[in-house]
Order: sequence, then structure tokens, then C-alpha cells
Amino acid sequence: MKVVVIGGGIIGCLTACFLKQRGVDVIVLERGKTGQEASLAGAGILCPIHPWFYPDSFSHLINASLAMYTEFRAQLEADTGMSIEWQKSGLLIPFFDDDTSNHWQKAVDWSARFGWHIEQLDTMQTLQLEPTLSPQLRRSLRWPEVAQLRNPRLLQAVRCWMQQLDVELHEHCEVTSLLSNQGTVSGVQCADGQGFESDQVLLASGSWSGELAAQLGFDLPIKPVKGQIVLLKGKSGLMKSIIKHDDAYFVPRADGRVLIGASMEFVGFERGNTEQITNQLMASMLKIAPGLKTATVERQWMGFRPGSPDGLPYLGEVSSMRGLWVASGHYRNGVALAPITAKVMTAKILGEPVDVDCSDFSVGRLTSESSTLGFPPR
Ligand SMILES: Cc1cc2nc3c(=O)[nH]c(=O)nc-3n(C[C@H](O)[C@H](O)[C@H](O)COP(=O)(O)OP(=O)(O)OC[C@H]3O[C@@H](n4cnc5c(N)ncnc54)[C@H](O)[C@@H]3O)c2cc1C
Repeated sequence: MKVVVIGGGIIGCLTACFLKQRGVDVIVLERGKTGQEASLAGAGILCPIHPWFYPDSFSHLINASLAMYTEFRAQLEADTGMSIEWQKSGLLIPFFDDDTSNHWQKAVDWSARFGWHIEQLDTMQTLQLEPTLSPQLRRSLRWPEVAQLRNPRLLQAVRCWMQQLDVELHEHCEVTSLLSNQGTVSGVQCADGQGFESDQVLLASGSWSGELAAQLGFDLPIKPVKGQIVLLKGKSGLMKSIIKHDDAYFVPRADGRVLIGASMEFVGFERGNTEQITNQLMASMLKIAPGLKTATVERQWMGFRPGSPDGLPYLGEVSSMRGLWVASGHYRNGVALAPITAKVMTAKILGEPVDVDCSDFSVGRLTSESSTLGFPPR
């Protein structure tokens, strides 16, 4: 069997590796260079922002993916000799008197239902653990098992793994149309005139999947949701846990760097960081973690999350075209969901049974926009 994967982000690359491990002949076609878009920009938090807002099917999918990380990471690091800097730093949400949304009870209930160990801390306990946080906080919740990884390291390692597995990769190769024969896919055509024949095609082109789907003749409501990030350089150990409050989060790396993210902007494919968002992120730092003000701003970047109206990914076949598959729309959770996506799509493409319920993630499902999970207001 021959499969063409369109898009060299974490979703396309990892699925290509899983397919190749099963003996499939895979070609990855990437418009630019692999791993340069959302997958590089992300914060690497291996936990959804507010998992209690999602349907149960999503929590099961996340749990299945995170359970795969231990073995997947061990194999990736052993095979490539590269570290992805996965670390169990834990995740903490502080609560303040003037919070407009109260996640406390929802978070506690969700954690009990889905088996996530949680600690409830008062002000003193929280500040002892995380002295950079504001003394204005009233209490906090902490998930000690939550892990993070460093996206550039993950992408480098996966790229190396692709080479080792002998996955055929064509960079600077933009797919523009589909080749088909009587309702069955037969390959793709690229902007430079090259054609690639295949039995199956997997659309994994992140935020560009919606536009490309329209070119390929079907509807896929994926749109870019821009996220800007500021990177601070501080003393190592300044912050230990990932800290999250509403949409703001702080991710401490082992070397003392702390990443502050991230905006949620519905501005199309408008690239670049803006002063307004940088100021907003720094203001959230002063409110939530003022002890970080000794750190200096080192760098900023941004990326486009592949947003879907209901916040859920699309994992499945396109009903109007046999052999055309979609793995896209992972929105804020693509790195956390990458292993299970690769596993599920490999099984589906090979025609094998899938051991997670994917009915909520079907392509062509009727979606209503969710104000908590879907596209942000323009
Ligand atoms: C600021 C920010 C913070 C985030 N934080 C987290 C987090 O903490 N945890 C988490 O799990 N997720 C996080 N995410 C989300 C996560 O990064 C994404 O869901 C994930 O990277 C999506 O991967 P992808 O492979 O689908 O898309 P991408 O990485 O965008 O890859 C898609 C690729 O397709 C290529 N392409 C597009 N069109 C074509 C074409 N026509 N032909 C060939 N190639 C094409 C593109 O060039 C690109 O390389 C974050 C995202 C952002 C932006």
C-alpha cells in the first residue's frame, strides 16, 4: 500500500512514522520545511487547557494519547539518541477572589471521573511551592502528573526518526489538487507540476487543511487561531510547575526559561508578534506570577492553531472520496494528541479496528460552534 501524507507537522510526520513501521510505503509532502508551523510554535503542555469543558470522548482520547507517551518517548529517544525534554513538572491553577470564571468544582469533578490525581492547596502551601506567584491568590489546584516537552526537540527527533525509518520526504512541495478515479483517490498533484500516485491520501496540513479541502472538493471548517508567545530567561528553578490561569499560562523549562502564552486571535493568517499582545501577556505575568519580573524577555514567536468550531479534531475518511483521510483540526491539543492520532489513523488506513470511539471526531460531522472550545470572537 502507498500513502501520501500532505503536511509535515507533528501530526503528518508522526503518522507517517507509524505507517512506515507497519510496512506501508509512505511519502510526506511538505509545502515548506517540516515542523516549522504550529507544531514548532506550541508550548508543549501535555494536558488540555480546560479539559472539563470537552465531551467525554475527548477526555478518553487525551488519556489514551498521554498513556502512549511513556513508551513512544522511550522508543523515539532510544532510536534517535535525542532528548525531547519531556518532564513531569506538574500543572497548577491558582484561584483569585476576582476570578470571573470558577473552574474549581468542575476541575475537581473531572479529575475524579477521568483518573487524574489532584492536590488542593491553600495560599501558604501554594506559595511555598511556587514563590513567584502572587500572594493575592486564595487557593490552588495542582495536577502533579502533568508533563511537558520542548517542541523544537520533539520535531527534530521525529524528523530524524523519519530518516531512520526511510520515510520518503519532499519539502518545498505544495499539494494543490487531488488525483482520483471514479470516486477513489489515486494521488496528488503539486504546485511545481509533480504528481504522486498513491492508494490513500492523508490530509494533515494543520491550519491550511480547510483551504486545501475546499481545493480538493469537500468542506472542512478548519480555520487558523493565532497564538503569540513570549519567552523569558530567568534563574533556573524560579518556577517549577506549569501555571495556568484562564487563557494565560507559564511553562518553566529546565534551563530557567519560562514561556508565557498565549493569545487566542481570529485574524486569519496574519503573521508576526504585536506590541498589544506582548503587553497583555506581560500584564498577566504581573498579576499571576509577579516574581517572574526579574526575568528578561529573550524572544517572541507565534503560530496558527488548526481551529475547529467545536474544538475537536477531525480523524477519519472523507465520505465523498474513497481513500481520502483527514487528521487535522487539533486546535490547542495537537502535541498532546499526536501519538493517539498516529495510532488511530494508521489503524483506519490499514482497515483495522480502532480501540477508541472516534464518532465525535468524524469528518463531515455536524458541528455547532462552541463558545468555550471553538473559534474565539473576531
Ligand atoms: C501558540 C501555540 C501554543 C500551543 N500550545 C500547545 C500545547 O501546549 N500543547 C498541545 O498539545 N498543543 C499546543 N498547540 C497546538 C499544537 O501545536 C497544534 O495542534 C499542532 O501542532 C498541529 O499540528 P499539525 O501537524 O496539524 O499542524 P502544523 O504543525 O501547522 O503542520 C501542518 C503542515 O502542513 C503544511 N502544509 C499546509 N498546506 C500544505 C500543502 N498544500 N501542501 C503541503 N504541505 C502543506 C504546513 O506547511 C505545515 O508544515 C499550540 C499551538 C500554538 C500555535
